[in-house]
Amino acid sequence: MSSILSVEDLDVRYGTIPALTGLSLEVERGSLTALLGANGAGKSTTLNTVAGLLKPTGGRVTFDGRDITGLSAHRTVRRGLALVPEGRLVVSPLTVLENLELSSFARGRRRSADLDEVWELFPRLAERKKQTAGLMSGGEQQMLAIARAWMTKPTMVLLDEPSMGLSPALVDIVFEAIATIHAAGATVLLVEQNASKALPISDHAYLIHRGEILSSGTPAELDQDPDLVARHLGLD
Ligand code: ATP
Repeated sequence: MSSILSVEDLDVRYGTIPALTGLSLEVERGSLTALLGANGAGKSTTLNTVAGLLKPTGGRVTFDGRDITGLSAHRTVRRGLALVPEGRLVVSPLTVLENLELSSFARGRRRSADLDEVWELFPRLAERKKQTAGLMSGGEQQMLAIARAWMTKPTMVLLDEPSMGLSPALVDIVFEAIATIHAAGATVLLVEQNASKALPISDHAYLIHRGEILSSGTPAELDQDPDLVARHLGLD
């Protein structure tokens, strides 16, 4: 397997409290990989450490053949790694267009994606260019957050619980947007509690529990033990 992202033996602490202990995972280039787990399992900590928002106390992160352990977030984005954080964090008072333009500075204007390409990938946003971001539905805001990541021309996109707090209809819109960027060539690492939505579109999945990987496999392999997934997602 050709990995684009390799996380080896990662340790992360908040003060003296361990959040991740010896966590390892691999993401194959071009794949859509899911990281599933319950509240507090360590999913956001994993993504934030890979993206450079948190510094690990041990272990190694390799992205696209280079060691990026402890590299700050503005550098990882320039290497082609884009994070769509939990809670979307679009700039509410700005329009859709302004949010996207702001993002193009993250990778340097000349290296950012063409807006026309974004309108083509996300026609729903094209119709709302001039709309104030904060007044759109949660699903549309999440779509904007994904499009904003796309503006940095990422090789890989890290998505932190994109379906959180959305109604089922809006969750569908968001999952379409994820499928769109994956089909357009991005490798995706998707953090979700919503396993029933994430697994069908995933090539591979990891189950995280209390800061450690408990199980991993293809969706079909994880389906062999539905109780395991249900238990650790708090579904039972
Ligand atoms: P959620 O779905 O609730 O976001 P998660 O799987 O993303 O959960 P993390 O947010 O990574 O989990 O949290 C992992 C552990 O680290 C939890 O025990 C959490 O309480 C703890 N933690 C997270 N952020 C902090 C922080 N800023 N300070 C102290 N402890 C933290």
